[in-house]
Amino acid sequence: SDHSLEYPMSPNQMDWAKLYPYYHDEKVMAPGKISREVQITDIGCGFGGLTVALAAEFSDTLILGMEIRVQVTQYVEDRLLALRENSPPGQNVYQNAAVIRGNAMKFLPNFFHKGQLSKMFFCFPDPHFKQRKHKARIVTTTLLSEYAYVLKEGGIIYTITDVLDLHEWMVHHLDGHPLFQRLDKQWEDSDDCVRIMTNATEESKKVSRNNGSKYIACYKRLPDPEI
Ligand code: SAM
Repeated sequence: SDHSLEYPMSPNQMDWAKLYPYYHDEKVMAPGKISREVQITDIGCGFGGLTVALAAEFSDTLILGMEIRVQVTQYVEDRLLALRENSPPGQNVYQNAAVIRGNAMKFLPNFFHKGQLSKMFFCFPDPHFKQRKHKARIVTTTLLSEYAYVLKEGGIIYTITDVLDLHEWMVHHLDGHPLFQRLDKQWEDSDDCVRIMTNATEESKKVSRNNGSKYIACYKRLPDPEI
């Protein structure tokens, strides 16, 4: 249950310094503030494999994993703290990655400003196979409008799953949304993040071990229409 979850009233009221202390300078910044904004989210990050891999790849960019399960979130938090502590002195590796416990289907605009994010990852989301559970899927038309709100123009939604039915569901909803346009296979093949998400998450490793299929779909956030 997520009844006990806490959400900031707005992105400005979030204690970002707690998550990214390296980017807070108490001499010049108000409490909770940091010198840059989160730009990449790993939604339903699980055990954090992608969050960790992206943090190493984009060392100047803040990455945030979001995970609903308490123990799993705690695991990722400990994992990131250990990585930070073990990083060579002066290098500050992994200071740019953090995790929060939250339900990504709720209140994302409380965490992020309009157009703040450049990439959102949805890796191996829970499939919710049964028809009556489909509304629990993390990609729906309504939720896509929220994702479009927090994504900047040209920002990208990455999806990957081993469940063909879920892949087709996500493609159907994204294709039908006026603010998203699919990126082609050639783009996928040349994008570093596609390569990383295909191999770095715990679920992607499991699928590889079982020789399963991985279905990928990536979409670009289009400009808002003129009114
Ligand atoms: N992305 C990871 C990977 O590829 O290894 C984890 C995949 S796992 C199958 C799906 C994860 O999404 C689970 O850890 C689950 O707890 C989390 N999750 C499900 N619904 C969520 C929600 N509404 N908000 C945040 N996380 C959620």
